[in-house]
Amino acid sequence: MNRAGKPTPAFFETLAAQHIELEPGELEKLEAHLEALLEANERFNLTAVRDPAEAWVRHVADSLSLVPFVAESGAKSIVDLGSGGGFPGIPLAIAMPEVQVLLVDSVGKKVRYLEEVVQRLGLPNVTVRQTRAEELADWKGGLRESFDAVVCRAVGGLATLVELALPLVKIDGLLLAIKGEKAPEEIEEAARALKELQGEVAATQRTPTGTIVAVRKLAKTVRLYPRDQGLPARKPLGVKVDPGS
Ligand code: SAH
Repeated sequence: MNRAGKPTPAFFETLAAQHIELEPGELEKLEAHLEALLEANERFNLTAVRDPAEAWVRHVADSLSLVPFVAESGAKSIVDLGSGGGFPGIPLAIAMPEVQVLLVDSVGKKVRYLEEVVQRLGLPNVTVRQTRAEELADWKGGLRESFDAVVCRAVGGLATLVELALPLVKIDGLLLAIKGEKAPEEIEEAARALKELQGEVAATQRTPTGTIVAVRKLAKTVRLYPRDQGLPARKPLGVKVDPGS
């Protein structure tokens, strides 16, 4: 059964607006990813987007909106933190085969699904790991300060992401977060996290599907960060947490 359908005109228009070009073989792989997503979504929840036409824009094109940013940065090794259904990491890896992509998620069944997709599509530049971002960035022997960039979407507020992502990137490396219309408020809210983690907002740019916030790491991260598992999300640095939540 073909659940993913074919890429829609709206999908191609979105890419054209950002001058993103794909090879024919890459389109087939993007379609196979969407097919695997919608198939797995019948077994357990990976996405609320069930309409394939909508998924082509909201998942695939939205993920690909990072291509110009990754290309411009020259990043050759990236981590997708909290990859879930594989966004944005899998479409990025398909469109940029020269970039090494590590997909990370803390949930076992999502990781098994991601491994299956990578195997089915044959993506030599992708690896998958079940872990929490906090653990991956641990100074005791994780992969601290070893990536050119972290990409992520829908994993947390910017203050949380700065604490989870900046320890993983090299000095001068980037956090590239896909955000929505609230990006300016999130940047304001992340002031303390940016200061503590030595990050600087290098760019905020609207795309056809969202807003990309690029944060550059200016200096080595102190050992204190990221704090213990769960804390960066539960008590984001410098953010007043609603006592009722
Ligand atoms: N990036 C995907 C999924 C977003 S849902 C998308 O945009 O569609 C958030 C995902 O992040 C979930 O799959 C969750 O398991 C994972 N996640 C949340 N916090 C995490 C952490 N600290 N470390 C690793 N994965 C995390």
